[in-house]
Amino acid sequence: MLFYSFLLSLILIFAAPVQVTHNDLQPYYTEFVNIITNECPSIKYTNKGKRNIGFANIGGKTLGYCMMTGFGYTIMIDSTYWSRANDTDKYEVIMHELTHCLLREPHNYDPDNYMFPSKEKCIPKEVILEQIKEYARKHCEE
Ligand SMILES: [Zn+2]
Repeated sequence: MLFYSFLLSLILIFAAPVQVTHNDLQPYYTEFVNIITNECPSIKYTNKGKRNIGFANIGGKTLGYCMMTGFGYTIMIDSTYWSRANDTDKYEVIMHELTHCLLREPHNYDPDNYMFPSKEKCIPKEVILEQIKEYARKHCEE
């Protein structure tokens, strides 16, 4: 019995869905991957291993985070922030975390860039889109 429950635990660990994306965040993930692969078909981005994109009650001033592990990555967006944010703010926070985790891009200290470490202003969607394409081209040359 002990052996079987051990076996079952192993199966659960390895058979557990390794790529989980919350339904509300799936369109953003798909859009991000489409943008970067259209811009650079040969782009190398993190698309293997464990992916967990969802919501958590982070609290404080943190709107979201990207955590890289040896096995993949986790992106969590603060659920309270998400419920109050407008479309542009939602777009900015999820694209910011996807850029960290998928392109391994660090922060940018230009407050007009969506990779600025904190939210200072509202960056229009068209501007974010152009900046994502710029990062894709930058990583294309690597
Ligand atoms: Zn960040």
